[in-house]
Amino acid sequence: MAQERMLKFVEQRQAYPAKRAAKVRAEDFREIADRYAPTDSEAQAARCSQCGVPYCSVHCPLGNHIPDWLRLTAEGRLREAYELSNATSTMPEICGRICPQDRLCEGNCVIEFSGHGAVTIGSVEKFITDTAWDNGWVEPLVPGRPTGQSVGVIGAGPAGLTAAEYLRAAGHEVHVYDRHDRPGGLLTYGIPGFKLEKPVVMRRIERLAAGGIQFHNDTDVGSDALPFEELRARHDAILIATGVYKARAIKAPGVGSDGVVAALDYLIASNRKGFGDAVPDFDSGALNAEGKHVVVIGGGDTAMDCVRTAVRQGAASVKCLYRRDRANIPGSQREVANAEEEGVEFLWLSAPQAFEASNRVTAVRAQRMRLGPPDASGRRAPEPEPGGEMTIPADLVIKALGFDPEDLPRLFGEPALGVSRWGTVMINAETMMTSLDGVFAAGDIVRGASLVVWAIRDGRDVAERMQRYLRAKAAEGRKAA
Ligand code: FAD
Ligand code: SF4
Ligand code: SF4
Repeated sequence: MAQERMLKFVEQRQAYPAKRAAKVRAEDFREIADRYAPTDSEAQAARCSQCGVPYCSVHCPLGNHIPDWLRLTAEGRLREAYELSNATSTMPEICGRICPQDRLCEGNCVIEFSGHGAVTIGSVEKFITDTAWDNGWVEPLVPGRPTGQSVGVIGAGPAGLTAAEYLRAAGHEVHVYDRHDRPGGLLTYGIPGFKLEKPVVMRRIERLAAGGIQFHNDTDVGSDALPFEELRARHDAILIATGVYKARAIKAPGVGSDGVVAALDYLIASNRKGFGDAVPDFDSGALNAEGKHVVVIGGGDTAMDCVRTAVRQGAASVKCLYRRDRANIPGSQREVANAEEEGVEFLWLSAPQAFEASNRVTAVRAQRMRLGPPDASGRRAPEPEPGGEMTIPADLVIKALGFDPEDLPRLFGEPALGVSRWGTVMINAETMMTSLDGVFAAGDIVRGASLVVWAIRDGRDVAERMQRYLRAKAAEGRKAA
C-alpha cells in the first residue's frame, strides 16, 4: 500500500507552491509563496522514491527522516509526519522556508539527478509544521524534573534557542541573554519578512517562554551592566551563541560618506518598522530606500535580502554589484532569480572603486572585472578588465560584504577564551567546550557566517554535550558532599 502511493515522480510533475506575481509581492513584506493545499502536498510527497540510502537526509545537516515523513504525508497521516519531523528539529517550519534546499536536501535528491526535478522537500516540511500549529498539535515545552542546575545562554539566535529548548526539557533552569529587545537573533532582525514572516518566529519564542525559559532582553553580556565573569558565577554552565556581527569593510575613497550604510543596520531598521517600532533613522530617510537609486554591494544572502527590501520600500532603481560572475555567487541562485523577477538589475563582475559624494553619496565608481586564473582557494580570482571603468548614480549605497566575529576575548574581558585567527571561538571537537571550563560555544560564532540549519544542529549537539558536563558536575558535587 505504502509503495503504491509513492514513486509517482514520473506521472506527477514537480510543483512548488505558487509564488505571488512579482509586481504584487514587491508591494509588501509577506512571504512570496503560498502554502500547499493538502492534496498538493500529498501529491508532491508521493513523488519520493523512498531510497534505501536517502541522499536527501545525508545532506540535511539535521539528518531529518525525510523519506519517512514524506510517506506519512502522502498517506494523509500529517500528525505523525509532524511528530517525526519535529523529532530531529526545533524549527522545521523555519528550515522549510529558508534553508537553501537547492544546496542541501533537494540538491541531493536522486529524482533531481534523474532529470525529473527534486521532491519539494522544504515546501512539504513547511506545510507539515504549519498545519501542526494550525491544529494545535505543537506540544508545549514541558520541563523535565528539576535538576537544581542552571545554564546561561548568550545569544537568542537559532543556536541559542535550540540549546535552550533541549536543556530546559532536561530539567535545567535556563536563562537566555540577548542584547536586542526581542529574541530570535537573525531570524528576527536580519532575515526579512518576505522570506520568513515574523509571527512564525515569535510563536516559537512564546512557546519557549511558556516552557519556563527566562529571556533577558536588552542585556549586552560583556558590558558594565553584565560582565561575562559575573554570568559565569551565576550559572553552572554557559553557552556562547553570539553569532557574527562585525561587518566586513570596503576600503575605497568616500566609503564614510552619508548615504553609504551597513547592510545589517538597513535590514534591522526595516524589520523594526515591520514590528511597528519607532525607527528614527528610517523615518529620517537615512535607512529608507523610498524614491532612491540604490546600489547594493555583495553577492551573498544578505545582499539579496537588501536588494529585495529596497524594491519593497519603493526605490527608484536597485542595482547589485558583485565582483565575480553569477555562477560564483556565495548566495542562493533561487534568491537571485526572485530578485530579478522583482526588478533588481545585477551588474556581475563589477567592483566598487570609490564613492562620489557632495554632502552625501551621489554615485559609485566601479571597475568591470574578468575572472583570472584560480587563486589559492581554487576559485578563479577576479581581476580588472582594462578600460572597464563606469560610474553608477546612487543616493543610497548598502555594503553587504559579509560578517566576521567580534573580538570576544576583549569584549568579554576574558583573554583566556581561545579564538582562531579569524576570531571564531575554538571548541573541543568532542566536548564542544571552549578553553574555559564549563563554557561552551555553538552556531556562527564557531563556524563563521553559516546557515540557520547548521545553527540548529549545533544547538542540538551542544545541548547534549552540556548535559554530559552538568551530569558529571552534579555527580562530583554529590561525592564531595
Ligand atoms: P544569530 O542568529 O546571529 O544570533 C546571535 C544572537 O546573539 C543575536 O540575537 C545577538 O543580538 C546576540 N548577541 C551577540 N553578542 C551578544 C552579547 N555580547 N550579549 C548578548 N547578546 C549577544 N541562513 C539561512 O539558512 N537561510 C537564509 O535565508 C539566511 N538569510 C540570512 C540573511 C541575512 C541578512 C543574514 C545576516 C544571515 C542569513 N542567514 C541565513 C544566516 C543565518 O541567519 C545565521 O547563520 C544564523 O542566524 C546563525 O545563528 P546563531 O544562533 O549562531 O546566531
Ligand atoms: Fe532540507 Fe533544511 Fe529541512 Fe534539512 S532542515 S530537510 S536541509 S529544508
Ligand atoms: Fe525521496 Fe529524493 Fe530523498 Fe530519495 S533522495 S528518499 S527520492 S526525497
